[in-house]
Amino acid sequence: MLGLMQDRPLLISSLIDFAAQYHGDVEIVSRSVEGPIHRYTYIDANHRAKQLAEALGALGVTLGDRVGTLAWNGYRHLECYYGVSGIGAVLHTINPRLFPEQIVYIANHAEDRVLFAELTFIPLLEGIAEQLSSVEAIIIMTDRGHMPETSLPNVYCYEELLAAQDGTLQWPGFDERTASSLCYTSGTTGNPKGVLYSHRSTVLHSLSSCSQDVLGLSSHDSILPVVPMFHANAWGIAYAAPMCGAKLVFPGMGMDGASIYELLDTEKVTLSAGVPTVWLMLLQYLRENGKKLPHMTRTVIGGSAAPASMIEAFENDYDVTVIHAWGMTEMSPLGTTGNLKAKMADLDYSEKLLIKGKQGRAVYGVDLKITDDDGEELPRDGAAFGHLMVRGPWITNGYFKSEGGPVLDADDWFDTGDVATLDGDGFMQITDRSKDVIKSGGEWISSIELENIAVGHPEVTEAAVIGVAHPKWDERPLLIIVRNEGSTVTGKEILNFMEGKIASWWMPDDVTFVSAIPHTATGKIQKLQLREQFADYKLPTA
Ligand code: AMP
Repeated sequence: MLGLMQDRPLLISSLIDFAAQYHGDVEIVSRSVEGPIHRYTYIDANHRAKQLAEALGALGVTLGDRVGTLAWNGYRHLECYYGVSGIGAVLHTINPRLFPEQIVYIANHAEDRVLFAELTFIPLLEGIAEQLSSVEAIIIMTDRGHMPETSLPNVYCYEELLAAQDGTLQWPGFDERTASSLCYTSGTTGNPKGVLYSHRSTVLHSLSSCSQDVLGLSSHDSILPVVPMFHANAWGIAYAAPMCGAKLVFPGMGMDGASIYELLDTEKVTLSAGVPTVWLMLLQYLRENGKKLPHMTRTVIGGSAAPASMIEAFENDYDVTVIHAWGMTEMSPLGTTGNLKAKMADLDYSEKLLIKGKQGRAVYGVDLKITDDDGEELPRDGAAFGHLMVRGPWITNGYFKSEGGPVLDADDWFDTGDVATLDGDGFMQITDRSKDVIKSGGEWISSIELENIAVGHPEVTEAAVIGVAHPKWDERPLLIIVRNEGSTVTGKEILNFMEGKIASWWMPDDVTFVSAIPHTATGKIQKLQLREQFADYKLPTA
């Protein structure tokens, strides 16, 4: 017997409609690419998203067409989120930090018909325009006064396109499983692969994000997503904030400590979200300038492991609770978040910190398990580590155009490529990407754990650990360090600092210093490049 409940489709347009209807006067504040701070409300955003949808319709964009964006976090990008997906077209957010040839590859692979581009990216586009085989129109995200001289073909001015429409469209209805947006993920090998979200998966993910034990978003929040809207939909915040009527604050291209701090302060931001490298910059800015964060109650740190020293700095020095989160583009992206359980409230801070250093616990909607190389499930004892497998309604079941072949096993489990432990309370801890784990004498050493401890040294800015060939042990860890400016700390001093914090056989065999560690387009340490750079490194123990 089927239930007698309405089968209304879960559509992305309902999020912005809801925000306009019930939180219409809540602000969206953006640092614009043109310079000034722009502010308007959810009513304005919905109206302009509809004007944009009408303009796209006039250009011939229909259900299923892909529409690319090369844009920062800002109000026009938000309008694309709703204007494009709202009519059943697919919003393809392109990461502008990729190499130009990768951008050409993914725009062609996605078959983007229309491309939105912020002023900053015009030179980049001019260099690749001839290779873009499917793009029929380029919409420059500015007004007439700021339109650049450009050699680009079929160029339109964003504000002019909008001005020509009246914004009276009613968002259309369609199947909630319709594709809504597309985000390419760049693995360390092979071509980037497209993750194709649906309206249903996006709305379910947003409901989960808002819930108290996940990100706990509400209409009381002012949210500044530092994480880009081209990185897994700003971790879903661009959808979840309208769902709960939270104020949105967009940093545009101003990602330095001073610019971020200014918005956190003036816009009374209560929650922010970003990768550790961004928070490293902000913390440094706060320290150097004697600033505090009186409005902020919590910050979400994910994308890479949040070191204990960073968690402690936010919580003890600035009274900002850290929500350590883990996920991936393939998971919309949230998988786990690190809110403590009630029974943990009275633990000593040092014990809490051990739990907060883990990547968080499963949220409803994401099944987790760890398995050995034969696919056998391993115990949830916080000690055994294995391949982290996930399944759920906002997790991919295959890449766009079947790139890379099937990705699920017979029971729908998706292999994340991460190696992790799970404990009895559901807290998961990533020990490594499976490709980065260091295999020493048949045992595994966690590069992430070593890095986290090394960056706890007060004179270390950043640390990376890679496995280097060793005649006896196969591989041994090499610790690569970026020292604080002016520091002369030695390798021996750093190893002394690490002593007692890890098993002795995990101790790196050597320490080397570099001026910078390379990062990927989404802010992760580029281990592949480091392994190439240090391929011939001779360890003193070899
Ligand atoms: P992306 O799809 O670019 O967001 O990358 C997803 C990958 O980032 C995951 O599979 C992890 O390897 C890594 N990652 C994400 N969050 C964390 C975290 N909190 N700690 C460690 N690694 C993380």
